[in-house]
Amino acid sequence: MDAYFAIDIGGTQLRAGLYPADSTNPLVMKKISTRGKESAVDRLIGLISELWPGEGTTVRGIGADAPGPLDSNTGVIYKAPNIPGWKNLPLRQILQDRFQVPVILGNDANLAALGEWRYGAGQGHHDLIYFTISTGIGGGVISHDKLLLGTRGLAAELGHVTIMDDGPLCGCGQRGHLEAVSSGTGIAKFVNEQLAKGRTSCLPKDLPVTARQVSDAAVVGDPLAIEALQRAGHYMGIAIANYLHIFNPTIVILGGGVTHSGPIFFEPLHTALKAHVLSSMYLQDLTITLPALGDDAGLMGSLALIQSHTS
Ligand SMILES: [Zn+2]
Repeated sequence: MDAYFAIDIGGTQLRAGLYPADSTNPLVMKKISTRGKESAVDRLIGLISELWPGEGTTVRGIGADAPGPLDSNTGVIYKAPNIPGWKNLPLRQILQDRFQVPVILGNDANLAALGEWRYGAGQGHHDLIYFTISTGIGGGVISHDKLLLGTRGLAAELGHVTIMDDGPLCGCGQRGHLEAVSSGTGIAKFVNEQLAKGRTSCLPKDLPVTARQVSDAAVVGDPLAIEALQRAGHYMGIAIANYLHIFNPTIVILGGGVTHSGPIFFEPLHTALKAHVLSSMYLQDLTITLPALGDDAGLMGSLALIQSHTS
């Protein structure tokens, strides 16, 4: 039997699944913590070795997603912010040397887009945009049945476009990026700043509040929390209008913790989208929906990537 390894590399955990060539049901699957006594690379190699099949099964390749910017052509991870020591790491070469099979890497948000397109909410679409709106904002684009990568695999950083001139500081160091306004971090930061200015709210003034607390407070009607989520949704809607003009997709998939806030976030998003789109033609035949694969999107994208690479 032929099989593929799909790997999901995160700052907290490493997951690996071994899949028969013609199936999305894994033969074996295991997750371990990213951090431990050994380095994350050694832990990853140990995990794959442990699941490596015996005689009768041939591994045709390994697909892996990793956080942070990476060169999908060379398989070098420039920087994985949540994994100590992962800077300019030639992970593809390391795994190929060790396991002697083709290895291909992709950015986690890009591969989540690929996973949703191939096996999730985006099946059957040819042009798709995917966002994960959580601590940061990651994204991926499928254009004409192809994952958009750019020259060095750095394309589709959909959260790092300037949406507010001289706006709040982004995690990347620039100002006014979409991520700085509409991510969970951006929402919490806005609320904390407003509280520091003396705004009244049911949220605590003495400790920094989290996006989750803001979302919970919005549900019970706290005006500041509602304003923060509406602001995030509004700018997300403007950003999506911009992306529709560039990519003209038939589906936009919006995932991540911030989307769990529901209509408080989505209503201003749809209003801003309609107000900023060049023509209603962009909205015809457009589906805006939640992801179908949940936490498995990246893993399924890794599988789709290695399948398409070796077939
Ligand atoms: Zn940024």
